Order: sequence, then structure tokens, then C-alpha cells
Amino acid sequence: MTDVLTFSDNPELASELAGAALSLAPAAGGRPLSVKVIGHASGDPQLTAVSIADAVRRTGASVVLVGATKFGRMVAGSLAVQLRIGVLSDVRSLKVDGQRLIGTRAAYAGKFNATVESPVPCIALVPPGAYETLSGRSVPEETATTEAQPKVRRAGAEVHTPSLDLRSARVIVSAGRGFRKKEDLELADKLAHALGGTMGASRPLSSDLGWLGEEHHIGLTGVYVHPDLYLAVGISGQLQHVAGIRDSKVIAAINRDRQAPIFQVVDYGVVGDLYEVIPALLRLLGTA
Ligand SMILES: Cc1cc2nc3c(=O)[nH]c(=O)nc-3n(C[C@H](O)[C@H](O)[C@H](O)COP(=O)(O)OP(=O)(O)OC[C@H]3O[C@@H](n4cnc5c(N)ncnc54)[C@H](O)[C@@H]3O)c2cc1C
Repeated sequence: MTDVLTFSDNPELASELAGAALSLAPAAGGRPLSVKVIGHASGDPQLTAVSIADAVRRTGASVVLVGATKFGRMVAGSLAVQLRIGVLSDVRSLKVDGQRLIGTRAAYAGKFNATVESPVPCIALVPPGAYETLSGRSVPEETATTEAQPKVRRAGAEVHTPSLDLRSARVIVSAGRGFRKKEDLELADKLAHALGGTMGASRPLSSDLGWLGEEHHIGLTGVYVHPDLYLAVGISGQLQHVAGIRDSKVIAAINRDRQAPIFQVVDYGVVGDLYEVIPALLRLLGTA
């Protein structure tokens, strides 16, 4: 019998899930916990879900941990429908209590932790960074395969390769609606380069205005970042944005409104016009 199955299309997250699964060991009541990793074979989330569903039925697994990537979310949704079981989304800690899986997840843009639970069997979507990667131990792995045919046919596909990885950036300079026009973002870009960093953005710039690609969008519905330095320029600091930057080591901001909510979460703040402050900083850094 297998207690926990894990699946992620991202290798690092797959290792974190194995760590998460082994952390449930006390729930096995003293006997060795059985964990199996499902490898990634199909590029189709629906087919991947079919093969994981087969594995769940075959092994009698009571918990399925799925890495909360875009692909993983699609797999979890399809798997839940096929097995008619619940999903705990974006849980950062997990325990089994009797016949229930209990998890905690961020609520109200990270201001509170909510406790969520579901009867087992169930699925839990685990985001990157919630658990340590597994080191020095290995767990059995099988590759997810299925004879099933996809029910959804793709009419076309566009390969999108994100040009940057904000999650691993050590310095991020993020631009918000304080910038008056797209061309002015060159200022933020120059500052990011001068500091050896990468440029991020608030949602309106990447989603609504389309000035930058979606991969720049930081916050609740974008990327969660944890750089050494996060500099928010012309960003008001709404909850949804701040949710994605809380794990930064140092948060700084440039904003002309001293009442802007971003100043409640910063370590350092400059109250001033970005069109004056950034050129001054670039001069100081010798790159104006
Ligand atoms: C369900 C939902 C999910 C969301 N998810 C996200 C998310 O993931 N990420 C995200 O960012 N947002 C998200 N939002 C949007 C969020 O609520 C805010 O609307 C958004 O973050 C505001 O972006 P901003 O700070 O760039 O713009 P604004 O709120 O318009 O702030 C602009 C700031 O620039 C300052 N400013 C203006 N001119 C200058 C100048 N010359 N010099 C210096 N400062 C200046 C102003 O004082 C102001 O504080 C979400 C909203 C919803 C409803």
C-alpha cells in the first residue's frame, strides 16, 4: 500500500514534494510511510491526470501531493474530477489527522494563515519553496503513462519562454503606475542593471497596460519573489502586490505620496518623484 503519491513537472519542486510527503510520516502510526513519486511523461495535463488516477486506484494512496505550477494546477483539477475528491490549494504546511488532511495557506494576501482541511483521499497543491528539497534520501519513482486518448484537442500552440526568472533574482527593481508612459520604464531598467538586478512590475503594467510581459508581474496573482533587495518604484503597495514581496530580505520604495501603503512594509523609503530620484541614484552609481 502507498500512503502518499507525489507529482510535479518541475524537478526541484518534485524533490520538495518528496520532503513534504515524508514530513507526514507520524501519521502512519509508527509504521514506515510509503511514498511514491510519479515522474512526468505526458505533456498533456489531462492524460497525466488519467495516469495518476490509475496509480491512486492501484496503490490506494490517501494523499496526492501535486506541485502548484501552471501544469500542476491543471493536473490537480482534472484529477479531482476523475477521482471525485477534494483539492487543498497552495498549502504551505500539511498534517494528517485521522481521516483528514489539514493544511495552512495564506489568506487575505498573506496577512493571515487559514487552516483548510479535506477528508482523505484528497489532493494538495503545494507551491514552490514551502518545503526543503529532499537530500540524502530517495523514494521510489514510476513514470506516469496511459493508453488513454486526450478528450481535448489543441488547435494550435505558441511556445512561450519566459525571458527572466524573478524567483531567483537577488535584486529586483519593480515599476508601477507611477511611471507615466512605457518609454519611461527605461529608467527602472537602467537602475535594475546598475544594481545588478532584474526588473519586475505591478500587475497593471503587465496585465492591464501591457507595457511588460506577464512574467514581470509580481504579487498574489503573479510571481512570489524573495530577493535580497526589492525596490518598488511608483507602486502604491496594495495588499495583492505586497503578498508577493513579503519574503524579500530588504524592501525599499520610491513614492511621491508619503501616505502610500508601501511605506508600511518598507525597510527604507524615499518620498520623492521617481523622475528626480532615479536619475540622482544613477548619477550616484556612476551610470547616468
Ligand atoms: C484579485 C486581484 C488580484 C490582484 N493581484 C495583483 C498582483 O498580483 N500584483 C499586483 O501588483 N497587483 C495586483 N492587483 C492589483 C492591485 O490591487 C493594485 O491595483 C495594483 O497593485 C496597483 O498597482 P500600482 O501600485 O502600480 O498602481 P497605483 O495603485 O495606481 O499606484 C501608483 C503609485 O505611484 C505613485 N506615484 C505616481 N507618480 C509618481 C512619481 N512621479 N514618482 C513617485 N511615485 C509616484 C503614487 O503615489 C501611487 O502610490 C490585484 C487586484 C485584484 C482585484
